[in-house]
Amino acid sequence: MVSLIWSRPAVTTVTTVIDGNEVADGIRADLTGAIERLADAGVRPGLATVLMSPDPASQTYVSMKQRACEDVGIEGVHVEVDTDAPATELYGTVEGLNADPDVHGILVQLPLPEHVPAHEALERIDPRKDVDGLHPENVGRLVAGRPRYKPCTPHGVQRLLGAAGVDPEGKDVTVVGRSEIVGKPLANVLTNESEGGNATVTLCHSRTRDLAAKTRRADVLVAAAGRAEMIGADMVGEGATVIDVGINRVDADTEKGYELVGDVDFEAVKPKADAITPVPGGVGPMTIAMLLYNATAAAALQEGVDVDLP
Ligand code: NAD
Repeated sequence: MVSLIWSRPAVTTVTTVIDGNEVADGIRADLTGAIERLADAGVRPGLATVLMSPDPASQTYVSMKQRACEDVGIEGVHVEVDTDAPATELYGTVEGLNADPDVHGILVQLPLPEHVPAHEALERIDPRKDVDGLHPENVGRLVAGRPRYKPCTPHGVQRLLGAAGVDPEGKDVTVVGRSEIVGKPLANVLTNESEGGNATVTLCHSRTRDLAAKTRRADVLVAAAGRAEMIGADMVGEGATVIDVGINRVDADTEKGYELVGDVDFEAVKPKADAITPVPGGVGPMTIAMLLYNATAAAALQEGVDVDLP
């Protein structure tokens, strides 16, 4: 008797690891033309960062942003406000920067100390200088589908999808996290009727019931909850695109005593995904590149110079 043993051929799926550093470098290079055009018109974009926090992560973020400005020819200004100072001192700083014609963009690094309501500080930024896109006027414009500046991280996520050849149009996108800075504006950016939008977005949060059912059905899953490696393989559908916004410090046997991990369990999820972003080196560099983009756009807008932004 001949027995036939059929064995399933091995299927090897190749997952694309989306390189945020490479995509961000491309955006920075593309910005050069616009910055040169502004220089020809006698304008140097100016970006002010304002820090009112002793948090080492916030200090690292602002210095990275300042360095990035220098690299592309944007004039960086950094202002520190004492953490214990009254809220009015921060408001005064913002108002001073609003009045400074050399400053086209203002970024107040969040989080602020508990005694300073973030919305009060953000509302004081001149909306035309609000390069984080968090002033209610800019939030409203985004929701209405006519954004002035797209918030940096959501814009970065949208650009990463584009670079990975993933058009959100018609796709099911699940976003985990509903913050004002990432989740909510990202839901708007991807829903809006415009290029890189037109998706059907499910916005999940800490009160969402049966989160895994919503994440598993996503063609594109974006994790922005700030919970280390909370998205495991069982929460991801076969062939999904997975974008990890999370940056979490976890204790580790390293020189610094910690390492950075995302909200996605990268090693477990990678074999199931078509494409995935790493942490670090995924969304992080894009956030900074899109800040430079917004600062350039803000300078062009305020100085009335016509530039071609990529
Ligand atoms: P946040 O704390 O303001 O918001 C977190 C959101 O996640 C909340 O809406 C909450 O409802 C939701 N959430 C928390 N636990 C959840 C759970 N178990 N299930 C479902 N939803 C849950 O955070 P944020 O400012 O939006 O940042 C989120 C993460 O992204 C953080 O790790 C932050 O460091 C990171 N981040 C990264 C970048 C970047 O450039 N890569 C930029 C901004 C924020």
